[in-house]
Amino acid sequence: MKRYGRTDEISALIAFLASDGAGYITGQNLQGRRRHHAVRLAGGGITRSATGVSRRWTFGAARRMMVPFERRPHAVDVMNALRRLLTAALLAGPLHASAQDSYVDQRQRLVDQIVFEMQATSRDTGLDKLRDSVLRAMRTVPRHRFVPPELAAESYRDRPLPIGLGQTISQPFIVALMTELLDPRPDARVLEIGTGSGYQAAVLAECVAKVYTIEIVAPLGERAREVLNGLGYKNVEVRIGDGYKGWPEAAPFDAIIVTAAPDHIPQPLVEQLAPKGRMVIPVGSRHGIQDLLVITKDAEGRAVTKRTIAVRFVPLTREK
Ligand code: SAH
Repeated sequence: MKRYGRTDEISALIAFLASDGAGYITGQNLQGRRRHHAVRLAGGGITRSATGVSRRWTFGAARRMMVPFERRPHAVDVMNALRRLLTAALLAGPLHASAQDSYVDQRQRLVDQIVFEMQATSRDTGLDKLRDSVLRAMRTVPRHRFVPPELAAESYRDRPLPIGLGQTISQPFIVALMTELLDPRPDARVLEIGTGSGYQAAVLAECVAKVYTIEIVAPLGERAREVLNGLGYKNVEVRIGDGYKGWPEAAPFDAIIVTAAPDHIPQPLVEQLAPKGRMVIPVGSRHGIQDLLVITKDAEGRAVTKRTIAVRFVPLTREK
């Protein structure tokens, strides 16, 4: 009986690992006092041994992690509540007027959490905050429209979710971080590889002039195109195909974001990056853990690579 239970837990863990999309892994607690290995999964709070809220890789934990949970340090909750209250008081009129859907509050709470996570990971990412356009995009893009209807209630938790055909919509924190790492200027033209649900493309479309996005799984690309059109995004073009080769006709791009993981940096993408352009890409083992890299092209066209945090994305697949 016991044996059976253990097997069950192992398969729960494997199922979980296999289904997870873009999440991130941090090896450092918030105060940076102690380094310890912890894996951040499925909408949990940030691992903090100092408060006794620590998450470890145990089989027993796998099942628990599959149910949504959220825990954050008390002081931060209180601070965030106060900040929300203050903001609400200041913006009572406009906030009320801009409440286009019933998820406004949930999105704001999600943004509070993302802001907190930006600070918690700043040592590894080199960034401690999001610019206004990214904050605004995270506060306005209706993520619930990009997930299957039965998961709408889960859509403002900070976790990846399945979108069908073995693919996932990335964790919102990762979407915000990658967008910021791209240095998304209002006049930028951006290429995305891995449209998936279209959510990342929508966030980008709020910040930059034009988004080109490529999806290899046709039904996903078509669905994303419909959702984006339905929401009125006129500055996003969705193409079905193998993004490894980029989009040569529209190159060069000021920024390229890759949201599926290859085991090496695709050379065609480096070539399609404009001088001073940036590429943000998870590179590493398939089905394993990858490094989120920022590749910057200097004015002479030399590429400089910087590592940020550890992440886990679904693999970049190739056309046969
Ligand atoms: N950015 C997406 C999440 C991406 S999940 C979102 O916001 O929802 C990764 C996506 O990359 C999957 O949909 C997968 O089908 C796609 N993908 C994998 N390999 C690809 C390739 N070579 N070219 C284009 N898309 C690819």
